[in-house]
Amino acid sequence: MKGDRFPVLEIFGPTIQGEGMVIGRKTMFIRTAGCDYSCSWCDSAFTWDGSGKEDIRWMAPEKILEELDRLGAGTFDHVTLSGGNPALLGGLGKLIDSLHARGWSVALETQGSRWQDWFAAIDDLTLSPKPPSSGMETDWRVLDAIVGKLREVPLSEERHRKDGPAGEEHSFRKPAARQGGTAGENTVAAGSRGRLPDGRNARGTSVSLKVVVMDDADLAYARTVHLRYPGVPFFLQPGNPDVAEEDQGRLLHGLLGRYEWLVGCVMEDRSMRNVRVLPQLHTWLWGNRRGV
Ligand code: SF4
Repeated sequence: MKGDRFPVLEIFGPTIQGEGMVIGRKTMFIRTAGCDYSCSWCDSAFTWDGSGKEDIRWMAPEKILEELDRLGAGTFDHVTLSGGNPALLGGLGKLIDSLHARGWSVALETQGSRWQDWFAAIDDLTLSPKPPSSGMETDWRVLDAIVGKLREVPLSEERHRKDGPAGEEHSFRKPAARQGGTAGENTVAAGSRGRLPDGRNARGTSVSLKVVVMDDADLAYARTVHLRYPGVPFFLQPGNPDVAEEDQGRLLHGLLGRYEWLVGCVMEDRSMRNVRVLPQLHTWLWGNRRGV
């Protein structure tokens, strides 16, 4: 951050959210620069590998709102923060407040490597830890802490007045203390208490987990994540290994085959019952194009 300005690489829309729990939702995108990961199959490597450096604009919240207004022209009520990893930006809460002040809901996707207090203000929050094929390693203690904190988010004064007191059944309960921190421990994880059917915490943040699956090792990783945080809505998505493929027909053919494979795997998996398998919808529609 520079003062109250954020490094923005793209603002685009309206379009549809192509992934995860709000798939199909009409939304605008704000893509921030910078990521603390370097996934082998990243489809937005230009946010962190230096190739998009010249395109970074340092923008204050009011400038971002101006651009959203110009592009969206009153046709939207939902904004998605994407990256890179927007969770690297400590001061993003100011932008989120500005978006809310306009009456827009705000979604975020992050890999769950960093906590920010402004997570509590997000309406639709997707944690997308990266599987082995990415080449990245999950810090389970950090992810446990993030899921645990999201469950503990207190009901804001404003929301409390509007909706009335949050009953026990409408809030994530305080998680049990974490014991140890290895991926193999599938019980008593920070996220395992206070199940909530729609994944909403007391403030109304809708929280979900999403894992991209390329192969059997990734599927085993997805299973670990799901069992570790059983109360959190869980999404699986086949990965796109051809992020440079320009022939949309060839790309779609491959993606359909991968989706079919993943659906088949999940159907016969007894440890993955309450899960959803989704395609990456925007690649079906627009291939590997940017800004759609
Ligand atoms: S976390 Fe996301 S943006 Fe960062 S390298 Fe991985 S896929 Fe790319």
